[in-house]
Amino acid sequence: MSEDMTFLPRDEVLSLEECARLVKVFVNLGVTKVRITGGEPLVRKNALWLFQEIGQLDNLNELVLTTNGSQLEKQAKNLKQAGVKRINISLDSLNPARFKAITRTGELDKVLKGIDAAKAAGFDQIKLNSVLMQGFNEHEAFDLVDFAIQQQIDIAFIEEMPLGHVAHNRENTYISNTSTLQLLTSKYSLIPSTHTSGGPARYWQRADSKTKIGFISPHSHNFCESCNRVRITCKGELYLCLGQEDKIDLMPLLRNHPNDDQPLIQAIINSMAIKPKGHDFDLQRAKPAVVRFMSHTGG
Ligand code: SF4
Repeated sequence: MSEDMTFLPRDEVLSLEECARLVKVFVNLGVTKVRITGGEPLVRKNALWLFQEIGQLDNLNELVLTTNGSQLEKQAKNLKQAGVKRINISLDSLNPARFKAITRTGELDKVLKGIDAAKAAGFDQIKLNSVLMQGFNEHEAFDLVDFAIQQQIDIAFIEEMPLGHVAHNRENTYISNTSTLQLLTSKYSLIPSTHTSGGPARYWQRADSKTKIGFISPHSHNFCESCNRVRITCKGELYLCLGQEDKIDLMPLLRNHPNDDQPLIQAIINSMAIKPKGHDFDLQRAKPAVVRFMSHTGG
């Protein structure tokens, strides 16, 4: 369910050059996988330049993108040439009216054309990210899986996370991946897959299909133990955990030391000491685990 969008004053947002500089510092510190996510990263002017800059970094194994798919029809080929390896596309409904209601601004048709464009551009690792919610799209699990199988792409079901204040009661809308898997095995004969994308998803597969069905289950199968992720917002805030408020502000270090990365490097190394062990998500709690929305840090 999307939230009201407010745009930050330009000087409160990292420039693309600052984003590229930050990523280079992280890669030089040993980071091998970078995911660009949002909000919607492809609506940023000249975003492609950032992908091209990051895509050519030595020592970076994977540049991946999470997108709402609305710009893919235009950008898929360029992103492929820039070195993007995998694309995750948020898709919670195949019903145009329900899709619009859930995304508030989105056009389903644009996203479907975006998926076609990504396949035509040669992306062979495309995954749908779907959040099932009671009272919204709980009856679309089969349709979404059938669509993924028909398109020969992957799909991951993500349990709703209590990030940000929303108009609905998450305790009522929450659907566990345990019940989604149970539902899916009533129609498909699924076997556990050894596939991993290096992320928290656990995959299952039909023996006769290329499609992998993933489950990202922060509530029912907590995966914080093996977490090796941090997130940087467009404001240069380094969040050590999606589910906690612990952060380091890197923008002053970028701007006060334009030609010296040492203060930045030291701050990043020090920040690892405060990386939380995990989230405290509790859907019974009225107030969200963290006030900021998922789009503030990206998934
Ligand atoms: S909630 Fe925090 S610790 Fe757990 S997987 Fe996500 S980022 Fe890592």
